[in-house]
Amino acid sequence: MAVEEGKSCCVVLVPSPFQGHITPMLQLASLLHAKGFSIVINHSELNPPDSSKHPEFTFFPLKDGLSNNNPSFLNLFDIIPEMNVNCRVPFRDYLVQMMEKPEIYGQISCIVYDHLMYFTTEVAVHLKLPTILLRASSCAYMEAVCAFFALKAENYFPLPESQLLDPVPKVPILRFKDLPFDLISEIPEPKLQLFEKVVNLGFSVAIIFNTIKNLENHALSWLQKHYRVPIFTIGPLHKIASSQTSLVEEDTSCISWLNTQAPNSVLYVSIGSIVVMDKNEFIETAWGLFNSNQSFLWVVRPSSIEHDLPDGYLEAVGDRGRIVKWAPQKEVLAHPAVGGFWSHCGWNSTLESILEGVPMICRPCFGDQNVNARYLTHVWKVGLEIGPDDLTRCVIASAIRKLMVEEEGKELRQRVLDMKQKLQMSFRDGGSSHNSLKSLTEFISSRVCHYYKNRNERRTN
Ligand code: UDP
Repeated sequence: MAVEEGKSCCVVLVPSPFQGHITPMLQLASLLHAKGFSIVINHSELNPPDSSKHPEFTFFPLKDGLSNNNPSFLNLFDIIPEMNVNCRVPFRDYLVQMMEKPEIYGQISCIVYDHLMYFTTEVAVHLKLPTILLRASSCAYMEAVCAFFALKAENYFPLPESQLLDPVPKVPILRFKDLPFDLISEIPEPKLQLFEKVVNLGFSVAIIFNTIKNLENHALSWLQKHYRVPIFTIGPLHKIASSQTSLVEEDTSCISWLNTQAPNSVLYVSIGSIVVMDKNEFIETAWGLFNSNQSFLWVVRPSSIEHDLPDGYLEAVGDRGRIVKWAPQKEVLAHPAVGGFWSHCGWNSTLESILEGVPMICRPCFGDQNVNARYLTHVWKVGLEIGPDDLTRCVIASAIRKLMVEEEGKELRQRVLDMKQKLQMSFRDGGSSHNSLKSLTEFISSRVCHYYKNRNERRTN
């Protein structure tokens, strides 16, 4: 399908096929569209976005043959490299077709790609098109991965197990165990190569983060010195852009149940879109929630569990709990009845919770989640930590009561409400994210269009 007529500058966006990555990319697409760019979304066949929810964009699926996969953190490291190989040719062919017919497709101003879709920058450089990287994670996580590679170059790893709780020399707020690698064993070469590709900027001319300058000042300045390209901090995107981004149908019936609950009385429990719970954790979490005597709304994705709920569990819980397959999370967190969030600490969930002033219980699992959890518990101090060795029903119930009814929970709630108050200035007129979006728009229209003009002049000379 051709892009909207009458639009001359087009931004091509390449999201990766995971909910936590598609969401910020579609939100950014809506913002750029509102600024006057036409939008083309080149997406994987795996987990495709619902084009009917965005008639204003042009969608083009890249034939990657991966649509039968069910992505979870258990198979990510197989899916991502395969997707990067399979998407390359269809993406190049589509761009060539667009460039040959600018009167139909518009002139490509730039390509914005998700860091997991690193084939994009390799294709774009051959076609002399500028690329901008969109990071779906925090600045702090990117700094942590860069610190890992710097220490690796100094032969720091593997580490003895006894050092896992020691501070990381280049980012002492983190412990070695917060880095996204098993540091006591030999790290598999394919995993290292994948991480190298995702921290490598390639030929990209700028980076966009879904974050807020004041939330991540320190890590942001470090990245600015390290990468030496403009970095745009445009977050929280979910508060700036209104866009329907859910890949799964939301069960909105939980909102009427929340309407019947007292303020701050419900714990919302969700582990995001790709984490999987083993049988033991699932059963202990179920009984921990029950034993806490608190009301709860629990998202149990069918693909996240290996076991059914214990017999008689739902009857025992009665009206004190609700279980859904997928919730309208942003609406849930904004609901006055919700007083706490038991979370895997994905970056979107982290921002969504902070910006609604909801304190958290942090149960990170992999990737950036440990870094986010460390910041939530030890830097911003708006969350309680629960480690993989604490997952017994007794410890879980006690952590929930601490957050929901005890003094420590009240302090966390007050702190996150103060944080919310300060951070929401960022996306109002004149705030840092508002200004950053303005600068990005100017950057794409001037600097990037300028790049294009120079390239054409070089061709004709
Ligand atoms: N989400 C949702 N309903 C649910 C669970 C999650 O809408 O029942 C959304 C949530 O609001 C967030 C995204 O899914 O925007 C998950 O992204 P995150 O970065 O938190 O975690 P990931 O899924 O990438 O691990």
